[in-house]
Amino acid sequence: MAFKLKARRLRCSFCGKKDSEVSKLLGGPKVHICDACVRVCNKILEATPSTFSGWDAMTDDQLLRSLGPAVATVEATRAVLQTQIDTLRKRGISWNAIGGVLGMSRQAAWERFS
Ligand SMILES: [Zn+2]
Repeated sequence: MAFKLKARRLRCSFCGKKDSEVSKLLGGPKVHICDACVRVCNKILEATPSTFSGWDAMTDDQLLRSLGPAVATVEATRAVLQTQIDTLRKRGISWNAIGGVLGMSRQAAWERFS
């Protein structure tokens, strides 16, 4: 069931978009997913066999068709990570602190996310 709440700003738990930035936002217990992320999930499900028995069991075509949705998932996750880091930076959190929790140097964190 799709719904939108006006009182609180809801976000897609997968891509981080606000309810105002997506056409539909589906809710579950402590989690929300937007229509675009549902489409990505559906593509992944379509591209992969219903019972997963390892990448080696997939045909070349199945494996090739799974690459696009996999990249879309990585990109969506990367966008969420960038939004989180941008928010931390706006709050004045140092690159040193961000790099620290990511297991990288201040310089590496800055080069990757600034
Ligand atoms: Zn989403």
